[in-house]
Formats: sequence, structure tokens, C-alpha cells
Amino acid sequence: MTLIAQIDDSLCLGHGDCVHVAPGVFILEGDVAEQQGQGTENQLREAARACPAGAIILIDAETRTEVDP
Ligand code: SF4
Repeated sequence: MTLIAQIDDSLCLGHGDCVHVAPGVFILEGDVAEQQGQGTENQLREAARACPAGAIILIDAETRTEVDP
């Protein structure tokens, strides 16, 4: 499955758990995370699971529906 990650800036707390779990995929820009690299499905799922704010939303690229991390 190909996943697309979307970060909800209004929910992001900027603590960087996603950066820790998936370095090179997510970076912190000030107080908000941004996606820098494509990342694997596993990296995106791990980052979404690690996010304490639920700010990382995963979308199935084929069906365009939200999937559970
Ligand atoms: S783990 Fe979630 S809340 Fe923390 S920086 Fe990443 S997206 Fe933002």
C-alpha cells in the first residue's frame, strides 16, 4: 500500500516524536513538523502512531481514503 502523510498544523505540538521515529522523513520547522522525504509505509505508520496529538493523517494513495496507522 502506498501511503500519503498529511500533517495537521493546527494539531501539531512540535515535540518531534515523528522526527525521532522517522528521521529524514519528517523535520521540525520551528514549532511545526513538515514532511521532508517520502518514507516507507512502515515509517509513516510508525510516525503516525508515535504522534501524541494525532496530527499525522495517513491516506491510501490509491483509494484516497484515510487509513489507521
Ligand atoms: S509527532 Fe505529531 S505533534 Fe509531534 S512534531 Fe510530529 S506531527 Fe507534530
